[in-house]
Amino acid sequence: MFKNPAELAERVLAGHPVTPDEALELLHTDDPGMLDLVAAAGRLRREHFGMTVKVNYLVNLKSGLCAEDCGYCSQRLNAGTDILKYSWLSPEQAVEQAEYGIKGGASRVCLVASGRGPSNREVGNVTRTVEALKEQHPDVEVCACLGLLKDGQAETLSGAGVDAYNHNLNTAESNYESICSTHTYQDRVDTVERAKDAGLSPCSGLIVGMKETDEQLIEAVFALRDLGSDSVPVNFLMPFEGTPLAGTWQLSPQKCLKILAVVRFVCPDKEIRMAGGREMHLRSLQPLALHVVNSLFLGDYLTSEGQAAQADLDMIADAGFTVLGARPDAERASDAVPASAAHGAGAEQGRAERTTTPCGSACGSAPGSGGATVSGGVGSSADGSTTAADSGAAPRGENASAEASVKGAAPTADGLTSRGSRDADGTVPERGAAASSVPTAAKVSPALAALLSSGDGPERDEDETRVRLELSPTVRRRGAGTSVAPNA
Ligand code: SF4
Repeated sequence: MFKNPAELAERVLAGHPVTPDEALELLHTDDPGMLDLVAAAGRLRREHFGMTVKVNYLVNLKSGLCAEDCGYCSQRLNAGTDILKYSWLSPEQAVEQAEYGIKGGASRVCLVASGRGPSNREVGNVTRTVEALKEQHPDVEVCACLGLLKDGQAETLSGAGVDAYNHNLNTAESNYESICSTHTYQDRVDTVERAKDAGLSPCSGLIVGMKETDEQLIEAVFALRDLGSDSVPVNFLMPFEGTPLAGTWQLSPQKCLKILAVVRFVCPDKEIRMAGGREMHLRSLQPLALHVVNSLFLGDYLTSEGQAAQADLDMIADAGFTVLGARPDAERASDAVPASAAHGAGAEQGRAERTTTPCGSACGSAPGSGGATVSGGVGSSADGSTTAADSGAAPRGENASAEASVKGAAPTADGLTSRGSRDADGTVPERGAAASSVPTAAKVSPALAALLSSGDGPERDEDETRVRLELSPTVRRRGAGTSVAPNA
């Protein structure tokens, strides 16, 4: 065992990995010791990633309509969650959506689709999208998140220029049957292996807070290490109403931070991403989490709304980090977008657009927590319906995403929620039924205000305190009717 986290970090830096027992001890760090744990994990983070933050952006190619029964997912069959459902964006629509994130500083675009797995025809849709995207943005990494892969599909994706494949293990093998009956843990492992064999960079992570024990959490983290995942999205369960895990609240901000630190200790040189549910569960500790993780999804998640992209960029800069691969100011200026996201606090940051985010789950869940939606985009439709994906996202409404999200938190007088706080005994209190979860009331920055007034950026919301990406007309139409378009 170790005397303190700093000593353990030294040992890891010297090439000696932590054991499951040590990881469990780290997870059980008491709250007064939390900053020491973060500082030690931060040493590992800086050793491998410096002070950079990789920004990812989700594009939900297909939303909802899934016949699988993943218990955390708002896109599962018969889920009562009111999400936007649509089938396959065209390559042009997908590229249009992706560009919102790219202009906001994203160096990786994640193409997500709901469902058990793609048909070969659907893989063809994705390859055409990737080719169109790479033609216009050759330096952008593309990660596909399409569910379980069949023979040859990973090779087809790799041949089309896909760089990475996301398929989350989500939870421990010993907990898997409690969250899904329509596919197995081994099915997921097999898909990650297929992706690796085809030369795709494996991206696989977790959804925490799904009634797993601490021991099962450690089991899952070590499984990801052994699987050789290059990037590890960590999603925090958003317990959507209408799903079997509705009402499951077992996380606190401190616990989330400790989980991220443990993942860093176990996988010190891997890209670790705070993904779906970070706003809801990490809350004001997100900047502290940047000292542990080195990646995030910009803006919204697959089926739920994250914090405004500008707020993410501001948070990165305010905490002293820089966006990986941020373009020079001169280039950004040519986009008529104010300043760079890589500059210090107070500077006008790069374009703030809203994105969508991670799936994190299985299929196309947002990384991070599966799911999928039109990001940046999808989100709200003319009728207020939303889009979604694995990660359990919540619907976004025209009025406020707050109404959309996972219900269960009790709103306070100012409209924010109290979700996440603990009672004096450390337990997470029961939430009431009607509230929103994701804090979305970020003020519009001067940079974003300029973008809005240019008529070339995201739409301003009615109360002018939030913005959302403008959806393509097709997406709006699909969203408005929540009809299912035939696969292209
Ligand atoms: S996680 Fe993926 S496979 Fe599971 S229900 Fe959601 S969309 Fe379907």
